[in-house]
Amino acid sequence: MTFDKLDIVEPILRAIEAKGYTNPTPIQAEAIPVLLQKRDLLGCAQTGTGKTAAFAIPILQNLLEDGHGKVKRKIKALVVTPTRELAIQIGDSFTEYGQNTDIKNTVIFGGVKQGSQTDALANGVDVLVATPGRLLDLINQGFISLREIRYFVLDEADQMLDMGFIYDIRRIIDQLPKRRQSLFFSATMPPKIVSLSKQILGNPEKITI
Ligand code: AMP
Repeated sequence: MTFDKLDIVEPILRAIEAKGYTNPTPIQAEAIPVLLQKRDLLGCAQTGTGKTAAFAIPILQNLLEDGHGKVKRKIKALVVTPTRELAIQIGDSFTEYGQNTDIKNTVIFGGVKQGSQTDALANGVDVLVATPGRLLDLINQGFISLREIRYFVLDEADQMLDMGFIYDIRRIIDQLPKRRQSLFFSATMPPKIVSLSKQILGNPEKITI
């Protein structure tokens, strides 16, 4: 299996080739076709499996095919992840795979001053990668609206719960439009995680790696 069998559009395929990747990892081979069909996904997968590209590539492609210019620079895709390090890595992936497109992303996380983050938001972004606390903070201050979100990713859900983010996650979900594509990733699937996934996903495709 090679990436060019996955119906990925040319600007994104070129970016994947520029990274030197020819073969999708198992989660990419399974998830990309499902996500390009705009289905919800429940992914049981760890970091290191190529999960970031498995969601970044189809989200970029779906945004391109939506003609994202119609609501230019409003946040249309939201990725929530537990740590600053993961948030930065995910943002870098969107930048790399989206390098031949005009889709812009920014990353926000706590523990630093918010000024440069709110400046980036004010310039307008299509994809926002965020940790939960800072995301809620900036929503409450009026810097972020989730009204135009069409793609939502909850990454590392089990770690998120272990870190005590469950209430923050619920408050974020409450603000999302009902019509959206949702992706839910967790390395483990204990009952609490399964029940959270049911609040977020509608009839998901399930992939275990
Ligand atoms: P992730 O699980 O998303 O954190 O990715 C783990 C590592 O695998 C990262 O360093 C990626 O750059 C790399 N990677 C992702 N997809 C591929 C691929 N198709 N071929 C080779 N390496 C990859």
